[in-house]
Amino acid sequence: MRRTDIAIIGGGLAGSTTAAMLGRAGVATILIDPHPVYPPDFRCEKLDSSQVAILTKTGLADAILPATTHDHTVWIARFGRLIDRRPGDQHGIMYDTLVNTMRAAIPTSVETLYEKAVKIRTSDKQQIVTLSSGDEISARLIVLANGLNIGLRHHIGIERTIVSPCHSITLGFDLAPSGREHFDFGALTYYPERAADRAAYLTLFPVRHAMRANLMVYRDMDDPWLRECRHDMRNALFALMPKLHRLTGDVDVIGPVRIRPADLYVTQGHRQPGVVLVGDAFCTSCPAAGTGTTKVFTDVERLCNVHIPAWLATNGMNATKIAAFYDDPVKQACDQICAEKAYSLKSMSIDTGLAGHANRWLRFIVRRAIGALREARTPHAVTRH
Ligand SMILES: Cc1cc2nc3c(=O)[nH]c(=O)nc-3n(C[C@H](O)[C@H](O)[C@H](O)COP(=O)(O)OP(=O)(O)OC[C@H]3O[C@@H](n4cnc5c(N)ncnc54)[C@H](O)[C@@H]3O)c2cc1C
Repeated sequence: MRRTDIAIIGGGLAGSTTAAMLGRAGVATILIDPHPVYPPDFRCEKLDSSQVAILTKTGLADAILPATTHDHTVWIARFGRLIDRRPGDQHGIMYDTLVNTMRAAIPTSVETLYEKAVKIRTSDKQQIVTLSSGDEISARLIVLANGLNIGLRHHIGIERTIVSPCHSITLGFDLAPSGREHFDFGALTYYPERAADRAAYLTLFPVRHAMRANLMVYRDMDDPWLRECRHDMRNALFALMPKLHRLTGDVDVIGPVRIRPADLYVTQGHRQPGVVLVGDAFCTSCPAAGTGTTKVFTDVERLCNVHIPAWLATNGMNATKIAAFYDDPVKQACDQICAEKAYSLKSMSIDTGLAGHANRWLRFIVRRAIGALREARTPHAVTRH
């Protein structure tokens, strides 16, 4: 049986970041994931400045940022009108590149096993992970970072409750300007023209040489509109946002259209000895709110900078120790803000009542005022439309 201080189950963003941080801190760690290379997966495709700030606290920003594409300037628009042109703070990166770049930052002192964990047994003193090969690992602590996979959690009585099924749906595709070399913007965030369309926003941002599009909507997965998107994304997009054309000109949709729903769920029964849950394994957040990575980095930063060093300094791994992570005020504030943002963005986007209209107009007016102020202060700021 292999022995280690920390066994991390799951080498997605949360598990790989944990492995990189612990490895760099000299903590004996084993990472377990079935994929030697993280496969293409439609998830987070950019980091914003607040996420980069937390990433910086993990000490891994320098390893990740060179693999991203900075957007330089973001145009904010609605009704076909450019209302602000703010300095860019988005770093585009496809999820598999993000995870694989993070994995490349894991020191060789961390042993990685390309297997599935099939069973875990936990206690105050020793944790046992059983792998698909039948091998076992003994650890002082298990970090469960296995994302949406609920199998292992059930073994130890941890339950998942879906609090908002299909809270939002994200569509991802590449766009290219038709008959021209480039778009006029570095990046564009476009707000929908009608609340009845049940869309949050469209964000266009560069990833390497492509212009990536993420369209966030609140619909059911059996909505025929999604079939239209699969069949003819370009026409479905301009039907949803007719005045978008003024900013983008004609476009071609390049490659596949990915469509993925996101449930919001929370976890119960997780305050246990010997095991701690991070990232999506603990709870999901709404892709439209763009906070999943915020939660991943916050969880991992608190765990590796604060809690694991304290836990390893004394014997045992009882539930009281583990509770300090879930009760961490920084983590709790982050989880709360992410949950609130998921619901407030949805109600702001789809409320067809008077209050909803008023809120959207208020957002539009405030953004326009900020844009006008910025334009006045920056002599060559462009408001061409
Ligand atoms: C469509 C979509 C768009 C999104 N957009 C954004 C965005 O714009 N901004 C943002 O901040 N967030 C976004 N998110 C959320 C963000 O992508 C997730 O919160 C984040 O990827 C979660 O990372 P994770 O490491 O917890 O899970 P994952 O990346 O899912 O990692 C889980 C890992 O566990 C491994 N695993 C599973 N079971 C086992 C097992 N039994 N043994 C060993 N390994 C196992 C898997 O192989 C995988 O490598 C989006 C999510 C989706 C679905």
